[in-house]
Amino acid sequence: MPEKKIVIAIDGYSSCGKSTLAKSLARKLGYAFIDSGAMYRAVTLYALRHHLVKDLIPDEEAIINSLGQINITFQYDRETEKNTTFLNGENVEEEIRKLEVSENVSPVSAIREVRHEMVRQQQRMGQEKGIVMDGRDIGTVVFPNAELKIFMTASPEIRAQRRYLELFQKGLEVSLDEIRKNIESRDHIDQNREESPLRQAIDAVVLDNSHLTPDEQLDWAYRKAIELIERNDR
Ligand code: C5P
Repeated sequence: MPEKKIVIAIDGYSSCGKSTLAKSLARKLGYAFIDSGAMYRAVTLYALRHHLVKDLIPDEEAIINSLGQINITFQYDRETEKNTTFLNGENVEEEIRKLEVSENVSPVSAIREVRHEMVRQQQRMGQEKGIVMDGRDIGTVVFPNAELKIFMTASPEIRAQRRYLELFQKGLEVSLDEIRKNIESRDHIDQNREESPLRQAIDAVVLDNSHLTPDEQLDWAYRKAIELIERNDR
């Protein structure tokens, strides 16, 4: 493997498999993987538990004032080969994936100060390079100089079905219709918020994975990454 490490930013719409790709790409390259959405989800879980958000309406001031009490960390579990999210030392990996969090996360993520704090932490995690981070603003705001930027998309129908299957396999009961509505609503808020909306960076390569298997998309991204790492190493 070449010496010089790069930064890989993966952005795109909700539920199009960004984390699946980011995780497998990071593993193949021996890079760190950060799911930035998990950080916004952890802030939202904190807000829900402290009654700082209700029916998609966040108490912005109270959430901003709580930011100092919210400590988000990740731990890599070698056995499951999964990154686990911790909120103030508690494993919240499962809880942050529940529908109540998904429903409230986009309004919470639209708060400017929340974004500034998360971006600051994410930039610190990427200081040493050798990182794959997925989210909505990674290639545009967090790492505008990332060597490889991938913008992912897939048809809304396929995204809803994939999410449904994922939750169903975890034993969580939700209807396909609820999931479709949640995906549409998150995409709408993420694209239309004032602060760092979801946008394709001009220098991003687009990956529509509607008809690709996880292995096919990994091959595609790995080849792109190696090309850039070798170029960077010269
Ligand atoms: O990636 P995931 O779908 O888990 O992200 C949950 C939500 O967090 C998104 O719908 C979006 O509102 C927010 N998010 C964000 N910026 C990021 C990552 C996620 O606003 N970089």
